[in-house]
Amino acid sequence: MKYVSTRGQAPTVTASQAILNGIAPDGGLYVPEKWPEITLDWSALKTQTYADLATLIFDAFFDDFSVSEIDCIIEKAYGKQWQRDNVVSFHKENNLTYLELFHGPTLAFKDVALQALPHLMTAAAKKQATSDKIIILTATSGDTGTAAMSGFGDVPQTEIVVFYPEEGVSAIQKQQMQTESADNAHVVAITGNFDDAQKAVKTLLADDNLAQDLKAKGLKFSSANSINIGRLVPQIVYYIYAYAQMIKAGEIQAGDDINVVVPTGNFGNVLAAYYASQIGLPVKQFVVASNENNVLTDFFETGIYNRKRDFKVTNAPAMDILVSSNLERLLYFASGQNGDEIQTYMTELLEKGEYVVNADTRANLSKFVAKFATQTQVSDTIKKIADTTNYTIDPHTAVGRYVYEQTGVTGPTLIAATASPYKFAETVLQAFNMATDSGQAALNRLSEVTGTDIPVQIATLFNQPIRHKKLIDSKEILATLQHEIF
Ligand SMILES: *Cc1c(COP(=O)(O)O)cnc(C)c1O
Repeated sequence: MKYVSTRGQAPTVTASQAILNGIAPDGGLYVPEKWPEITLDWSALKTQTYADLATLIFDAFFDDFSVSEIDCIIEKAYGKQWQRDNVVSFHKENNLTYLELFHGPTLAFKDVALQALPHLMTAAAKKQATSDKIIILTATSGDTGTAAMSGFGDVPQTEIVVFYPEEGVSAIQKQQMQTESADNAHVVAITGNFDDAQKAVKTLLADDNLAQDLKAKGLKFSSANSINIGRLVPQIVYYIYAYAQMIKAGEIQAGDDINVVVPTGNFGNVLAAYYASQIGLPVKQFVVASNENNVLTDFFETGIYNRKRDFKVTNAPAMDILVSSNLERLLYFASGQNGDEIQTYMTELLEKGEYVVNADTRANLSKFVAKFATQTQVSDTIKKIADTTNYTIDPHTAVGRYVYEQTGVTGPTLIAATASPYKFAETVLQAFNMATDSGQAALNRLSEVTGTDIPVQIATLFNQPIRHKKLIDSKEILATLQHEIF
């Protein structure tokens, strides 16, 4: 399998090169040139473990890795660090199945990919015979940062640098990042928002001159954001696994269509569902759920992507994004793999702040339906679901749950439950009208009112010493890297 850039101006590469590079040299994102040949035999798949399925998908997409390399990566990525035997678990509410993706080390779905990515990256470096130290640049809206450090922490031959918006993360997320103890981890708050951080990081990653300078010093940048194809492929696995489990539970028959509801920010998680459908997952509709930063809702309704609007800091902060990087990957396929067309859109986005997608491309997006939830609707949904079904969801999952109802999709539906409610304990308690607690007290209170245990992963979080307090402007990212690393 080969990987090409969405902007059509970069050399074709193997999977391991795409993972190592993070972003293509023309500023585009790596995508498979064609979909791998893979047979999803549901009667066999429904009895397989999560790790078996992950092996199948990784082997297909990362085909320049050997079978034994992939086996070794899967074993490290999906072992005892998960609080569930099969990585994910399920919760039923009538026709709706919550796919709980948050039982890993940092309590959000990003662990699923980021427990694997460091091992993919080090195996890729070996394969490419590079002894360069890899500097993982990460812009985070809160969850990628902790998950990336959990994955890359103390991995030899890597440094991990995380930039997060000072005002845009939950108390728990901030505590997780500031207390990170790995020696190779660097955590820096920025005064801008997530888009500022992501833009700065993408610019550095695509800077050829800088890459040459780094090379001379034995260094190389890569990315742990979902712009890296090594983030997306591991996320295909859980949609396929969930479908197989729904068959096993007798909720659907093999071949039945399902809907997939995904609370969305950078469009990575929903894109993974689309990739799953391209290799055989039967999906009727993809429901793209946004918060008040509803640029994607407008896009799917009008065909116009317009980032010229106020950036809002909301109670579902991991989705506070106006430039959804991975939409580029969807448009690439919707345009019939037309790199020139994508290049034009992305230039317009950069220069004018908007683009209008052409009619033919838009016609290929008909399976996508998009809506958004306000902060009040998020809060009300958390309370309603707890009151009526005794199930506590986090604010991001609540965005999805609210939008699910609004779109009126029917039939068996999978909703990505992207974070543990404990990760956003303050917001959940506010929804319950118990707004006074914060930090450890909020965790304790949430445990008390829901009758559930505080996840072991964060049970002692507030006893850890703060190690990272640096705060910079997003314009100082390069200078900070020069000071801290090279
Ligand atoms: C990152 C994140 C999202 C958004 O996922 P994307 O892949 O960026 O669309 C949703 N919910 C939570 C909890 C997240 O951490």
